[in-house]
Amino acid sequence: MSPLEQELRSIIRDPGRIHPDEPLSKHTTFRIGGPADFLVEVSDRRELSGVLALATREHLPVYILGRGSNLLVSDSGVRGFVLILAGEFDQFQVDGLRVTAGGGYDLPKLATKVAKMGLGGLDFACAIPGTVGAGLVINAGAHGGDLSQSVSAATVIWADGREESLTPELIGFAYRSSKLQGASAIVVEVVFDLHPANQEELQGRMKHHLERRRATQPLQQPNAGSVFMNPPADYAGRLIEAAGLKGLTEGGAQISEKHANFIVNLGNATARDVLLLLDRVRGIVQDRFGVRLEPEVKIWGENPYFRF
Ligand SMILES: Cc1cc2nc3c(=O)[nH]c(=O)nc-3n(C[C@H](O)[C@H](O)[C@H](O)COP(=O)(O)OP(=O)(O)OC[C@H]3O[C@@H](n4cnc5c(N)ncnc54)[C@H](O)[C@@H]3O)c2cc1C
Repeated sequence: MSPLEQELRSIIRDPGRIHPDEPLSKHTTFRIGGPADFLVEVSDRRELSGVLALATREHLPVYILGRGSNLLVSDSGVRGFVLILAGEFDQFQVDGLRVTAGGGYDLPKLATKVAKMGLGGLDFACAIPGTVGAGLVINAGAHGGDLSQSVSAATVIWADGREESLTPELIGFAYRSSKLQGASAIVVEVVFDLHPANQEELQGRMKHHLERRRATQPLQQPNAGSVFMNPPADYAGRLIEAAGLKGLTEGGAQISEKHANFIVNLGNATARDVLLLLDRVRGIVQDRFGVRLEPEVKIWGENPYFRF
């Protein structure tokens, strides 16, 4: 066992939650990605701050992994620690109209559970297959709603271990973005202020959202949702389709025939394939329409193929 793994074992109570050389393809919805030096499931603040201190001391990067549903990990993987927020970060509590959820809690599960309690405001998220923490950072949204509409506070832990409670103003929500994007903040808790709503209406709306997605998105094939953000007053999918790019392939990656803003993994796609395809699509759309598409999917690790 390496000295680093020994140190991790002194921080993480259950050694079964330390996974050396873990292939990240097992943890991304694209089913793509090389190994993380260590994938570690942290179950409380003590373990989280212990790993952060170790990473600082050893000058190793730290990544937070949710459901890997907005993520493209390079074929050579990532060095350092990839952390999954488990245990106390994977719970939620309800107090009247106020719901407090851990950063690692499943967002669609939360949306479904609170709807059953007659709490409205999160039904739009019933089919966004990520965690509460990642959803906050990118202000996840769909069907006219997004998290900014109901979040009243969030707690983050910074790389130096400092814990801070943030107001919506400090979070700085924008379209599929917030000021936390690219910062080293780890979202450990989010507070939502919801409103009373008719349970059956909420269930009906969620059923409609789910059916619509089944009809319009390639859910049978590995993908990471929309790969590009919508440009102002337009849709990335519309532009890509209008450029005739549906079905375009690069190695094992393909622009979905069903939804032009989705890239699907045909079975053996590499991160390189996806990045080259993103680059080609962006170039063609820029030449045809003069619109520069910005990626929505997050990219981890080496990337000599797609320039930001
Ligand atoms: C079929 C499909 C449909 C989708 N539909 C939508 C949609 O309608 N709307 C939408 O907005 N998105 C959609 N997505 C994209 C994705 O589900 C969302 O972006 C989601 O919020 C990502 O959550 P995640 O837990 O999977 O994050 P990951 O992919 O694991 O991580 C994404 C980024 O967030 C960071 N991160 C994760 N957790 C934390 C944390 N606790 N603190 C700080 N940073 C963190 C990661 O480091 C990474 O940079 C879809 C994806 C798929 C596959």
